[in-house]
Amino acid sequence: MDKHRQSLMNQAAAYAAQYLSEIDNRPVFPSQATRDRLTEFDFDLPDNGRSDEELLELLHTVGSPATVASAGHRYFGFVTGGSLPVTLASKWLATAWDQNSFSETSSPVGAKIEAVALRWLCELLHLPGDSGGALVTGATLANFCCLAAARSRLLAAAGWDVDASGLFGAPEIPVIVGTEVHATVSKSLSLLGFGRDRVTVVPTDDNGRMQFDQFPKIEKPALIILQAGNVNSGDFDPINDICEHTKGTGSWVHVDGAFGLWAAASEKYRHLVRGLEKADSWAVDGHKWLNVPYDCGIAIVREGDWLKKAMAMSAAYLMQSGASRQPIDFGPEGSRRPRGIEVWAALASLGREGVAALVERCCRHASIAAGLLHEGGCDVLNDIVLNQVLVSFGDDDRTRAVTRAVQDDGTCWCGGTEWKGRTAMRISFSSWATQDEDVERSVAAIIRLARSNDQ
Ligand SMILES: *Cc1c(COP(=O)(O)O)cnc(C)c1O
Repeated sequence: MDKHRQSLMNQAAAYAAQYLSEIDNRPVFPSQATRDRLTEFDFDLPDNGRSDEELLELLHTVGSPATVASAGHRYFGFVTGGSLPVTLASKWLATAWDQNSFSETSSPVGAKIEAVALRWLCELLHLPGDSGGALVTGATLANFCCLAAARSRLLAAAGWDVDASGLFGAPEIPVIVGTEVHATVSKSLSLLGFGRDRVTVVPTDDNGRMQFDQFPKIEKPALIILQAGNVNSGDFDPINDICEHTKGTGSWVHVDGAFGLWAAASEKYRHLVRGLEKADSWAVDGHKWLNVPYDCGIAIVREGDWLKKAMAMSAAYLMQSGASRQPIDFGPEGSRRPRGIEVWAALASLGREGVAALVERCCRHASIAAGLLHEGGCDVLNDIVLNQVLVSFGDDDRTRAVTRAVQDDGTCWCGGTEWKGRTAMRISFSSWATQDEDVERSVAAIIRLARSNDQ
């Protein structure tokens, strides 16, 4: 049995190593032929199982080629990064541990490393060191956790215990967002009973920033949701102005900084998040710019007790010991994997300087790409403030056609979007693996495809 397990693990490691070593020699998006082969997974549920070796081989021969090469050098879709080698290796080891990391009792190592990762994150991002936090599946759930904590405090201040009594009959809490609010924030608002549409919407400017001069007067304590890093333009709401404006009103300011919050780790870009530490809660992704594997998002709440109030539960068998932090008290999940390990590994391996360098390199790639695209006759639609480039190739139909051609070509992968009423192609630089030559090669392919589209 042991021998079988060992040989299976070795085989998986060999397949994975081969996959990663060949990833940059194939189209970034899998071909139709490789996707057609996915039907090979769709056999009838066997009465008697097939061999483990055979299944692993099927995953490697049919599954690997049908992946999107987002772990490679030239994937520029969805503001997502790849995986730093140390985070992938740590995740493998932790997968072998198979820890249930809801508490210190179920996993001493999981609970400890998670607490350290959260402390380091607050330090790195210049957030209050005694904040509470949760490691969740992504910024969607991180937003959800922060807004749940906000809901508990705002309603408690209005004399209502929402966690015990629910929302029926509760006092109303105004919610303020910008026109560029991320869809996952709207989803969280709907899940939490605030309502997706029951919001006051503040207009945004040409680069997607909330317009401070249009921000409403605060009449009563409100939930205010700001954005650090617009998914299209990469720009930031005026966090400091709004925090100063709402100070002393009993409002709760939440910052959705899924990727943009990492700007706080760089001296050069920290000005973009000025006033960040004045907010009440922050959501950030590990699996985007920190380049840890999926799935990993982080919720940080200044007054962690409100997060705990919203999330903690009790049962006789959960019996917690001592004063140390129990992960289950701060997040929506019970049983789960120890996802703090990859964050811990990434931060310990990169150090402060390494995180700053990663952020700055990606931003530099965005500037280089925007410059080359402009020289190549393409229309760059946004001010490049961070790692995002929006480009148009003329009218909307032509932009759509060129974007499709870029995706089919396979040199790199960029997604499509809409920006201020125009169709655009969106290029996100978020991967540790991207080198200067990948940027040049990719932009050259984009310009070539845009030109050949005319013929
Ligand atoms: C990506 C993103 C989210 C959602 O994050 P997931 O990791 O997909 O859950 C939320 N807000 C912003 C600004 C994002 O960029």
